[in-house]
Amino acid sequence: MIDLTFDRKSKAYQWTDPHSGEIFHFPGTGTAVKSEAWQFAVRMLDEEIYETAVGLITSFPSLERTIWRGVERYLNGDVEILPLPENDTVAKVASQSDVYGRHTIQNDNGYLLCDCYAFVNMEAPLLPNGQRICSHLAAYRLALTREERF
Ligand SMILES: [Zn+2]
Repeated sequence: MIDLTFDRKSKAYQWTDPHSGEIFHFPGTGTAVKSEAWQFAVRMLDEEIYETAVGLITSFPSLERTIWRGVERYLNGDVEILPLPENDTVAKVASQSDVYGRHTIQNDNGYLLCDCYAFVNMEAPLLPNGQRICSHLAAYRLALTREERF
């Protein structure tokens, strides 16, 4: 969980590195400054995930928002990969809109499915290969990348 605060007096976002206790300041008030501060925190906390996200965004610029939201979910620990798929279900991802609910990720012969609103209503962006990507699927793919290294 990345905890950004806004200091009204100095008009800057602040983030405290939980490891070193160092406080970083990001002067400005807009959402661009806020996302710059947030991405800086991601890089400090998990450089590998940061680099993976930036690489994906470079390849698929239309996925930028979805990928950062996936990074946020991943860093929140929202993704649970099932060790053994049950039916086609390969993972569960916590839902932010419903604290008691989790989204189900299914792998249908290589095509990934999510049961969230953005995916089901086809509002989530498409990859060139036809795979639709919501923030839950982005989080799942990031978690999978990490797991395959071990
Ligand atoms: Zn989803």
